[in-house]
Amino acid sequence: MLLSSITSLPEIDLVMEQSMLAFLEYKKTNPKERAAFLERIALEIETLSEELIRTTQAETNLPEARLLGERGRTTMQLRMFAAMLLEGSWVEASVDHAILERVPAKPDIRKMLVPIGPVVVFGASNFPYAYSTAGGDTASALAAGNTVVVKAHPAHLKTSQLIASAIEKAIAFCNMPTYTFQHVTESSFEIGKALVQQSNTSAVGFTGSFSGGRALFDYAAVRPRPIPVFSEMGSTNPVLLLPNALELNAETIASQYAGSITLGVGQFCTNPGLLIGIKSASLDRFKSTLATAINQIPAAKMLHQGILSAYQKNRSIALSTKGVNSLTNDIASNKIDATPIIAMVSGADFLANENLKEEVFGPYALLIECTNIEEVKQVWKSVSGQLTTSLMGTDKDFELHPELIEMASSIAGRVLLNGVPTGVDVCASMVHGGPYPASTDSRFTAVGINAVKRWVRPVCYQNCPDHLLPDALKESNPLQIKRMVDGNPYQ
Ligand code: NAP
Repeated sequence: MLLSSITSLPEIDLVMEQSMLAFLEYKKTNPKERAAFLERIALEIETLSEELIRTTQAETNLPEARLLGERGRTTMQLRMFAAMLLEGSWVEASVDHAILERVPAKPDIRKMLVPIGPVVVFGASNFPYAYSTAGGDTASALAAGNTVVVKAHPAHLKTSQLIASAIEKAIAFCNMPTYTFQHVTESSFEIGKALVQQSNTSAVGFTGSFSGGRALFDYAAVRPRPIPVFSEMGSTNPVLLLPNALELNAETIASQYAGSITLGVGQFCTNPGLLIGIKSASLDRFKSTLATAINQIPAAKMLHQGILSAYQKNRSIALSTKGVNSLTNDIASNKIDATPIIAMVSGADFLANENLKEEVFGPYALLIECTNIEEVKQVWKSVSGQLTTSLMGTDKDFELHPELIEMASSIAGRVLLNGVPTGVDVCASMVHGGPYPASTDSRFTAVGINAVKRWVRPVCYQNCPDHLLPDALKESNPLQIKRMVDGNPYQ
């Protein structure tokens, strides 16, 4: 049974105790059983069909095409983790046989990854499917063998309830422990804090604002037993516009970026919020094309009133900062729709005003005009701690400045060349994370198969009799998975 309405803190204790009891059973399920469960969740979500899309459209203002795409991504992620379970090597099993003749004798040691315990997932407002109730955090945590408690995002509660009901059906169909998944719909910081601090909670996944992600991290740090919090927070995703690339392609790059800045009304954590270039005739061509393109993009509805109000407030703060001008028609957003805008500032004024480094979540970017490449690098380094950074450059640009790629890797988790950061491919090589404050743990990704690594911990068994070992570590390798044996990979 899902708990769908939590109104008091003692109920949070109950939810997390149930989650822990279910975890003790669920973690014993084998990879095939868990794969079938994830597949079934995907199927149940598809079965929700039109009702789901219509409900989410009404709650989020997102268009049908976007929602269909996001639903496809969500079910694909569930199936990707199911395939990962069947393949098996994600547990990183390794076997080091005993060497009895060594002095002192070397013991038999075997290691694998095991689930961490009940995971609390905070749904994201800007991804009602792919980063909410049955999104990437939930799918990867369940795949690893953890139970999950989702704190629904209040901006799409009915959507979240529909998806929760799909998971509930999959639990029943696959005979999983009843409390493998639970759904908390109450909206208050107190409830969120209690979920993070309840003693049975073992890890937390979050996507949203910097203030929210940091608050959850701090709640976890002061627990008697601190736990990991994987918060994916704001990012301004700086873009370098290098001189030769602009000289050759200013107009094309400007059109590409006009599309990226306004995609989904700018409501992506990978939205390119800072464009950094050097004052020149080609940068003027870029500005002119970008301004024309942005001025033609109509105002559009944001996800919810709170996000629109925050956008209006933050863009006003940016535009009233010393040295900041508007490159586009400065039409303030009205009570319903957000107008896109490009602001402009010199490198010196940017460096002098800390507030300009803050994310303005919405269809906004700040163009920073520097006097030379040294100032570009100074501006770029001052905003390190990003999900992405993009470099628009030619071979000539990189011959002149080979240090830029190395610098980029210290600034962001994903380094893009000659592209736009919006659009995050789901694959094994994707990194969606980055140095703080983009995320609270830069060693992990929230997208792709490696997202599962957030919800596991390594355990090694020393001198354990074969029949007592988990299947992944037994000498005969009954799961037939790739393992590291005596230092040799894939045996
Ligand atoms: P949010 O304010 O960070 O809230 C997300 C979730 O975290 C909500 O469930 C909220 O609880 C909870 N939460 C936030 N602060 C908390 C605290 N101090 N203690 C306990 N729980 C807390 O995100 P949002 O509602 O989606 O949007 C607000 C702003 O976040 C946006 O305007 C935008 O600036 C930013 N944002 C950024 C990204 C990104 O990817 N970079 C994505 C979405 C939003 P309640 O349910 O109780 O409210």
